[in-house]
Amino acid sequence: MCLINGKDFCYTPNASLKNYCTFKVGGTAKHLIEVYNTDALIKVCYKCKLHNIKYKVIGMGANLLFDDFGFDGVIIVNKTKHVLFKKNCVYASSGVNISNLIVKCLNRSLGGFEKLIGIPATVGGATVNSLGAFDTNFTDFICQVKCLEIATGKIKILTNEKCKFGYRDSIFKAGEFIILSVKLNLNFMQQEIIKRNMQQALKRKTTSQPLNCPSAGSIFKRTSIIPAKVIDELGLKGLRVGGASVSTKHAGFIVNDGNASAADIVKLIEIIKQKVKNAYNVILPVEIEIVK
Ligand SMILES: Cc1cc2nc3c(=O)[nH]c(=O)nc-3n(C[C@H](O)[C@H](O)[C@H](O)COP(=O)(O)OP(=O)(O)OC[C@H]3O[C@@H](n4cnc5c(N)ncnc54)[C@H](O)[C@@H]3O)c2cc1C
Repeated sequence: MCLINGKDFCYTPNASLKNYCTFKVGGTAKHLIEVYNTDALIKVCYKCKLHNIKYKVIGMGANLLFDDFGFDGVIIVNKTKHVLFKKNCVYASSGVNISNLIVKCLNRSLGGFEKLIGIPATVGGATVNSLGAFDTNFTDFICQVKCLEIATGKIKILTNEKCKFGYRDSIFKAGEFIILSVKLNLNFMQQEIIKRNMQQALKRKTTSQPLNCPSAGSIFKRTSIIPAKVIDELGLKGLRVGGASVSTKHAGFIVNDGNASAADIVKLIEIIKQKVKNAYNVILPVEIEIVK
């Protein structure tokens, strides 16, 4: 198969990573390739492996913090958009935007995961991280994941059980597979109910989170304590390092005020962790991934 630049993929050398993550920070990627279909995704991954080039597949970069020194390899941005419906099942390629998928499902009266509307994520990223909000977990609806096993170059179909989904966790976190598509099992529901769930979720998100500022969502994972609650109790809202500050709207978020560096954000994370450790003797686990 021959890939055509423009149709199957788009190559950019020395691309600013600020444009490929929701935090809007990071240096440049030596090579950046946007892929528009699954064949292109597979082929680019194969090529990188064959030539022993460092690479990383990303979705919307909504859980990532790119290093200020950039990425000395290939960033593969997954822009695949294939969606197929069969009765109450939907097959979605891994680059599909979750919110767009929710709306497509609504049009077919299929629901279940609509409370995740508005969260920046692709199907691939949501599967890796086991995306969830308001007691709804994206991965509860997954019955199969089609993926490329990096070590063998084989395409595998994994059942939900094999994926070992847990709180913001899955076997995909180890980076041994590239997710190509998922099969979701959804519920036939009245459109009015799906819409109401969407509206309620959006309202809760917009009133409680700083959605108009660059961020990567919650910085810390829940443990024995709720990070946002303890950070707020310690009076850390508004705490700043350079252009990064603890959101005054949601203490679990760090926001980029426009000119933050990745180093500012990392420093602020360390300060918060230290203050929480001193006060509660708990080490907050970081939810976001730092990419170097
Ligand atoms: C404003 C805001 C609100 C948020 N709210 C929530 C929330 O309520 N709940 C929640 O759980 N999260 C939330 N998040 C975090 C984020 O949306 C999720 O972690 C989401 O799953 C990230 O998806 P992504 O496509 O952007 O993945 P990326 O951040 O691009 O990638 C995440 C990881 O998955 C890997 N990956 C991506 N695609 C593939 C693939 N096809 N194959 C293999 N590996 C892949 C990447 O290499 C990386 O390691 C929020 C983020 C923001 C910015």
